[in-house]
Amino acid sequence: MSVSETDLQHLRRCVDLAREALDDGDEPFGSVLVSGTGEVLYADRNRVKDGDQTRHPEFDIARWAGENVPAADRAACTVYTSGEHCAMCSAAHAWVGLGRIVYAVSTEQLVGWLTAWGVAPGPVRPLAVNDVAPGVPVDGPAPELEAEVRALHARLHGVAP
Ligand SMILES: [Zn+2]
Repeated sequence: MSVSETDLQHLRRCVDLAREALDDGDEPFGSVLVSGTGEVLYADRNRVKDGDQTRHPEFDIARWAGENVPAADRAACTVYTSGEHCAMCSAAHAWVGLGRIVYAVSTEQLVGWLTAWGVAPGPVRPLAVNDVAPGVPVDGPAPELEAEVRALHARLHGVAP
């Protein structure tokens, strides 16, 4: 499956949430959980500014799904996200049994930008979702949103996009 027009609509919401996070002093990542029938169940954005660096939206979505979505319904859900899940979030996603992931930009793209900007690498190896969770269907990136997401990350790091 590739990125459809409906997928793009959800991804645009993720980018809006990422911008909201950045405007509020957090890192620019946003994610949306959509049910198998296309209903938006939950949406959140990065909330690391108060010192808990695990407050990624994809991790919150996995935990929310674990508490609120029946186990039998989780594989039909799709998680949309502005930036591909990190290893922690990929693992949480797989452990609770959620389904497809669609991202606007990949970890590989993000790491490429950060390297070019001279940003020091983070403490977790930058793996693709399927390096951590091989059974999860993954689609992305969405070239339509690349420049917008890149600009948000450039703003975070104080560099020109
Ligand atoms: Zn993460």
